[in-house]
Amino acid sequence: MTTTPAIRGWCPGLHTPMEAADGWLARVRPPLGRLSAAQARQVARAAATHGNGLIELTSRGNLQLRGLTPDSARAFARDMLAAGLASNDAATEARRGLLLSPLAGIDPDAAPDAPDVIRALDAALAAAGTLRGLPAKFVIAVECGGHIPAGTLRADIVARATDTGWMVACGDRALACAGADVARMTVTLAHALAAMKPASRPLRDPALGRAAFARMGVVDTTAAPSARPDRPVLAGPLPGHAMGVMLPPGPIAAGMLDDIAQWCDRHGNGHMRIAPWRAIVLEQCDTPPALPGLLMQADDPRLRIWACIGTQGCACATRDVIADAHALAPDLPPGVSLHVSGCAKGCAHPAPADITLVAGPDGYGLCPHGRADNTPVDIGLSLAQIHPIVRGWSRRPTDPTHATPREN
Ligand code: SF4
Repeated sequence: MTTTPAIRGWCPGLHTPMEAADGWLARVRPPLGRLSAAQARQVARAAATHGNGLIELTSRGNLQLRGLTPDSARAFARDMLAAGLASNDAATEARRGLLLSPLAGIDPDAAPDAPDVIRALDAALAAAGTLRGLPAKFVIAVECGGHIPAGTLRADIVARATDTGWMVACGDRALACAGADVARMTVTLAHALAAMKPASRPLRDPALGRAAFARMGVVDTTAAPSARPDRPVLAGPLPGHAMGVMLPPGPIAAGMLDDIAQWCDRHGNGHMRIAPWRAIVLEQCDTPPALPGLLMQADDPRLRIWACIGTQGCACATRDVIADAHALAPDLPPGVSLHVSGCAKGCAHPAPADITLVAGPDGYGLCPHGRADNTPVDIGLSLAQIHPIVRGWSRRPTDPTHATPREN
């Protein structure tokens, strides 16, 4: 096992935990985005036994445990391997980090072959032992259509179900293909990118997609569809007798995951999906969980807020951004999104939000309609100054009172 101090761009995993202010953190990537209630309870138990009992749902649909030590991180990895929740080597585990639509195979309006596409892609990536050299945080997504709008999964390569079949998009280009060809096409594309040794990712440098297709000898690509910044709300009943539960900003206690797992066992089919939007989907469950702390109303403003661990667990932070995010929630106008970040790295939400606040030693910087690494239009703001700014915010994307963020 490799243990690594906090490094910008580093993506911690189960076998490659990362040091933070509250101890080491490690991630569990449920295979194919799905785990049984029994496995979820094992994760909850392990968080309490090996870590500090706090669990975060990451923007990639992973479960992140905090407060480990190098020794307990090793024990945690052993437990997760025994639970069937990981590959047994770090390289394979990293390659299989897919970002998946949580309703694949559940939603009757989604592509019926989506589960086959996902399984084939997972197997192809597991077998792609020579696939090395991709940029840190490189990720592949599978969108299967139906209830979850196309474009909500942001990734370097996106396999997306369309009206006529599938497409594989990378950067600014896309190629139509059959479902049976998605895995091969995606892995070939990933190899082409890796061979180019890019310093950036197609998500940040869309021209890399065109270059990768060209390297494969593919010229008949089309323009890749644009992404949608809004995330779907998965609170309450979902298509296919699924039940969505969403979690508040910040980590949850291991006991909450245990409670959700018990509900899943009693009222569902004993399986759940971890969604990339701080949500858990319970399969075959028609009874909304009556559990404290879950966000079950679609208009709850906390569904539109992102916050990282802040001073509760990260040495880079200067403020308890989770507490500040909760304090600002009642002020948030309908439809407005808010990202409260402990620093410019913006771990909780790499995409733009209507309001992005970045903590600094002298107060918050304000990045309207931007990301945490944009240049703030105002700095040194206290929470007292921010409350009225948030209350009066308009969702107009070109609000003349707020500068357009710099694109990095
Ligand atoms: S964004 Fe938050 S969690 Fe990430 S490095 Fe900065 S303070 Fe730490």
